[in-house]
Amino acid sequence: MSFDTLGLMPELLRAVREQGYETPTPIQVQAIPLVLEGRDLMARAQTGTGKTAGFTLPLLQMLAPHANSSASPARHPIRALILTPTRELALQVEESVRTYGKHIPLRSTTIFGGVNINPQTKALRAGCEIVVATPGRLLDHQGQGNLNFSQLDILILDEADRMLDMGFIRDIQKILALLPARRQTLLFSATFTDEIKQLASKFLKTPALVEITPQNTAAELVRQVVHPVDRERKRALLAHIITTRKLDQVLVFTRTKHGANRLSEQLDRDGIDSMAIHGNKSQPQRIKALEDFKKGSIRVLVATDIAARGLDIDMLPHVVNYELPQVPEDYIHRIGRTGRAGTEGEALSLVCVDEQRLLRDIEKLLRKDLPKEVVAGFAPDPSIPAEPIQTGRQSGGRGPSRSARPASSGQPPRGERGRHPSRPGARGK
Ligand code: AMP
Repeated sequence: MSFDTLGLMPELLRAVREQGYETPTPIQVQAIPLVLEGRDLMARAQTGTGKTAGFTLPLLQMLAPHANSSASPARHPIRALILTPTRELALQVEESVRTYGKHIPLRSTTIFGGVNINPQTKALRAGCEIVVATPGRLLDHQGQGNLNFSQLDILILDEADRMLDMGFIRDIQKILALLPARRQTLLFSATFTDEIKQLASKFLKTPALVEITPQNTAAELVRQVVHPVDRERKRALLAHIITTRKLDQVLVFTRTKHGANRLSEQLDRDGIDSMAIHGNKSQPQRIKALEDFKKGSIRVLVATDIAARGLDIDMLPHVVNYELPQVPEDYIHRIGRTGRAGTEGEALSLVCVDEQRLLRDIEKLLRKDLPKEVVAGFAPDPSIPAEPIQTGRQSGGRGPSRSARPASSGQPPRGERGRHPSRPGARGK
């Protein structure tokens, strides 16, 4: 993967080259195209992942058409606001803006407390497209009439979790009230706490989700179990588990969209309300289905790995791997949907003879064997030979490049109730 494939303009590619960067980091691969598309973004990434360039590069490109060398302040209205928790981070971010933007005549400045306000006032009055600010001092400037956000296109909340930890929530809310409703909003945070999600649901519009999860973090809190079972008896076992254990809100993963559809239909026939998520459904339809699932009117959501990306469905009590993923890292992403933030989660994998290699790959990645528990009445028949695994268009390959692929193609099968993200927010490793 090279920077050339991300859709960045030559001036930015040049600046990146001058920095000596050869390949984009995972957050950059995933975030840059989404931001360039104009999507709102909710990104989970820590410092050190290259997140700053991940939002600064596309930001500069979005604003580049407005770049000019006029001395008139009116030609340099504020078009982007980047909020950070600390002055150190504000300085760092603005340094990145200057570094990556050195071949584009856009102006930037920092606003933070603890220093004389006058030079900041002067810079704001002279006109400046990109303002990097801590919340408190920004509001001081607002009080002094130094700010006009009427031309603002993009808001970026950097290290949003830290801003909330530092008690900036009310300041942030006040600032958000000053900004035009029609804008692009990007939220970066090291964690997605309930508070962060609340903030995002209030201020972001159907954001794409990007998560840079460190590998091998198969949440310690998740109870992981493998249920060996015959290929043909998986559906019966799934229905058995859901009904006997009275499970609600179960996220079930299949490898293919066709498999997801078929399973959803079969579960419905078994009297278990379910929905498959993929298919050419609109964003509002997807949101509606997700809400139905969250509020409990759909008991089972059947998803492929790609369809699940970009959907804010985590903290679920139960995740079921109806089929193991082709790519072992996807197992970690799947089970990462459960057991977050101190809640106990459970990840069940229904594994047939065909999937032994996939299971070994996953155990290798986890560096541990998963416990195997045969469910009474579903012991696998050892005389059944393994068959090659059916892979759909949605499986195979790995990493961020998959986010660029359509999640479905062609006609949805008859009776499809699913939907797919128009552009899934990718989850990377
Ligand atoms: P950040 O996570 O934004 O704080 O960035 C961490 C460090 O990675 C910074 O020192 C950047 O200069 C550097 N960096 C960002 N993107 C790249 C890249 N694609 N290749 C190499 N280094 C990078």
